[in-house]
Amino acid sequence: MSYFASVPAAPADALFGLMAKYKADTFDKKVDLGVGAYRDNTGKPWVLPVVSKVDSLIVADPTANHEYLPITGLPDFTKSAAKLILGPDSPAIKENRVASCQTISGTGANHLGSLFLSRFPSSAAPPKSVFLSRSPPSPGATGDTPPRAAGGRIWISNPTWANHKQIFENVGLTVKQYPYWDPKTLGLDLKGMLNALENETRPGDIVLLHACAHNPTGVDPAREEWEKIAAVCKSKKLFPFFDSAYQGFASGDLERDAWAVQYFVSQGLELLICQSFAKNFGLYGQRAGCLHFITQTAKASENVKSQLAFLQRSEISNPPIYGARIVARVLNNPELFNEWKENLLEMANRIKSMRDALKSELIKLDTPGNWDHITNQIGMFSFTGLSPQQVDRLVNEFHVYLTKNGRISMAGLNTHNVAYVAKAFDAVVR
Ligand code: PLP
Repeated sequence: MSYFASVPAAPADALFGLMAKYKADTFDKKVDLGVGAYRDNTGKPWVLPVVSKVDSLIVADPTANHEYLPITGLPDFTKSAAKLILGPDSPAIKENRVASCQTISGTGANHLGSLFLSRFPSSAAPPKSVFLSRSPPSPGATGDTPPRAAGGRIWISNPTWANHKQIFENVGLTVKQYPYWDPKTLGLDLKGMLNALENETRPGDIVLLHACAHNPTGVDPAREEWEKIAAVCKSKKLFPFFDSAYQGFASGDLERDAWAVQYFVSQGLELLICQSFAKNFGLYGQRAGCLHFITQTAKASENVKSQLAFLQRSEISNPPIYGARIVARVLNNPELFNEWKENLLEMANRIKSMRDALKSELIKLDTPGNWDHITNQIGMFSFTGLSPQQVDRLVNEFHVYLTKNGRISMAGLNTHNVAYVAKAFDAVVR
């Protein structure tokens, strides 16, 4: 009898399944609008020129080696990453209230951050819900061992990045949803969101927020809307869990894309930030990411960092060096930093021009419906409002690949395929 006889097949990952189908398609006009990675105007992956430059500097550097990093990562990387998201003059940094830990890109930051929160629920949470599920220490455990998963609740937007739910459930958090997307207005359902956060949450609950360029909708709260969200987090003692996977990619401006996070910090809220350098550096496969906790005191930050190191040691021991080294060199050199900003702007501008092009093609075709949301939304993705049946037709009849929820990656559009895509959209909505 095989050990594995009772192991059922896991469900396939929908996005990666779509990518495989696209790859196998031999139609010459096929279009990939599922991909969550930047493509240039010829549909090819783009190595940022600043990254190529730093690559050759590292290769030529006789002092660069492949030794282990410290458990919490490359200090030049984590420190400059904190400055990038919090601002160079952040009081939280000056007062040593930031606990940073390098992670396996943004996914790893989501995992480590939620793992920590499941082990250490907020002291604002009702004690019963916290301690009932806490397992007793295992035999032989020392007093230093963090408690076993105690659970806790995290609120995620409906919809959100497909991986959030499984990452959080994997560490024992209970996942709840707050309304976010309003299918009638094709925009933000602020009322529904605030109502859920105000009336359905408990003190100590965690609230996942996309720092900018919400995935999959491309709809971000305006500044005055963020202010209302922060006020509810404060009054209801909720813990903001910021996922920042697109800084600089949304508006082309690093500062503007960090506004929400910095505003929450300025309001005295304790929070965490998951930071990915996959998209804004084009370093998808290098897994360069960072997790930052902002605490009220320097002492708390020190303790949190020690616990992050403790958890990280048993999971990956030490984070990967290469991508972090590239990012650190760029962030710590003013000339390279300016070059990076230009590269970022080039990507953001190309995506914006594709939004304009798609909308104007649809208007030209007199396609039924209002397509303003395509240019109102920001970042890599757009939520088209197309139904699952329309998506099926796009994939099967027109070889235009997108996810079932009607999300398209603007990066998959270019001047050669945008008219074809608009015609396909036109055909399926009529
Ligand atoms: N968070 C969001 C909202 C994302 O869209 C993504 C990637 O698509 C990630 C996190 C994680 O990306 P990575 O692990 O490649 O940094």
